[in-house]
Amino acid sequence: MVRAMVRRLVSNSLTLAAGRSQHHQLRRLNIHEYQGAELMGKYGINVPKGVAVGSADEIKKVIQDVFPKENELVVKSQILAGGRGLGTFKNGLKGGVHIVKSDEVEGIAGKMLGQVLVTKQTGPQGKVVSKVYICEKLSLTNEMYFAITLDRKTAGPLIIACSKGGTSIEDLAEKYPDMIIKVPVDIFKGITDEDAAKVVDGLALKSAERTSAIEQVKKLYKLFCESDCTLLEINPLAETAEGQLVAADAKLNFDDNAAYRQKEIFALRDPTQEDPREVAAAKADLNYIGLDGEIGCMVNGAGLAMATMDIIKLHGGTPANFLDVGGNASESQVVEAFKILTSDEKVKAILVNIFGGIMRCDVIASGIVNAAKQVSLKVPVVVRLEGTNVDQGKRILKESGMALITAEDLDDAADKAVKAASN
Ligand code: GDP
Ligand code: MN
Repeated sequence: MVRAMVRRLVSNSLTLAAGRSQHHQLRRLNIHEYQGAELMGKYGINVPKGVAVGSADEIKKVIQDVFPKENELVVKSQILAGGRGLGTFKNGLKGGVHIVKSDEVEGIAGKMLGQVLVTKQTGPQGKVVSKVYICEKLSLTNEMYFAITLDRKTAGPLIIACSKGGTSIEDLAEKYPDMIIKVPVDIFKGITDEDAAKVVDGLALKSAERTSAIEQVKKLYKLFCESDCTLLEINPLAETAEGQLVAADAKLNFDDNAAYRQKEIFALRDPTQEDPREVAAAKADLNYIGLDGEIGCMVNGAGLAMATMDIIKLHGGTPANFLDVGGNASESQVVEAFKILTSDEKVKAILVNIFGGIMRCDVIASGIVNAAKQVSLKVPVVVRLEGTNVDQGKRILKESGMALITAEDLDDAADKAVKAASN
């Protein structure tokens, strides 16, 4: 996945280098379940009635206004990651989705709001819950899986459905691959009745009406195309005791290349759910992806950045990030980049690898020296400079009195960085 992200970024920064787009990447936009449900509702897709709430104080009134007759409600933590049902809060509360009596909603929401939920998809640091989605409780008699994504092989939308859902679809696909059905849709023709029927038959409905289910599938496809989705996943797509088909969960991702024509959707972006390092980098217009390793990399050029990551691996280390400062980074961008690297606690050494072409080595050197004045430098820094104004750059570094490890070439630099990180 990381490789794919990096590849995507590389193509972005190549566009940047070509001067076509000056703006940083979101790569793909992810929105909250309650926002996805609202969008689906606008398209006539059946969704449970629900309301998102940001503080426990509002809850009594919300329940009075919206759910005066409900005995039980579903309280769902809103984070931009799945697996909430089986997740655990750092405060000990088990489960990010709870079905409770109406008068218990306030109590349970109070234990979720402002707290950090850890799931299979969040990583150990978890994600903070700033809203809970309170929904009517439906009696679900059958839980299925439904998704639309973009398929490389058919170079178009692909509908994926499974008669069993609710749980981790990855495990299911591994155990019972034959249960997963896939229906490619011709992007030019659009979805046909036959396509939609194939999907519905694959879902093997127990009580819901076939023709209305076919209509729901067509509406989901319409939403997918018109909103420039890269993924629309409903797990579970459920049948209720009343024979209704409802989308009981919603995961929607959108193509960032469509941001210019999906302004309303892109306004939903929630930076509190993103990697803070990436948010800071995006602000400074740097091409950055956070990774799990211990060597912070500052490189110019996407290709060189990829090569640097590879050669670190080759020498037995792991990169903490992908960072391309670009062809014409300013000194202040270099300072920002350096701050991001040094604020990462996992970073045990920093490797600066610059090939000065359009980028001048003296600008990089001044940026590093200035950054070092602003942040306390606790880890060794290995520097390899080559190209335009390299002598000036080396002089600036030398005269700064900073303790730097200089390297002759890429191989030497990687070797020194890995050794420095393990000391
Ligand atoms: P996820 O774990 O992040 O995918 O969160 P989901 O939105 O899928 O919720 C987890 C589980 O809660 C679902 O798989 C359902 O089994 C259950 N659930 C959600 N809404 C309802 C509801 O209205 N009624 C019932 N009975 N169960 C629900
Ligand atoms: Mn789900």
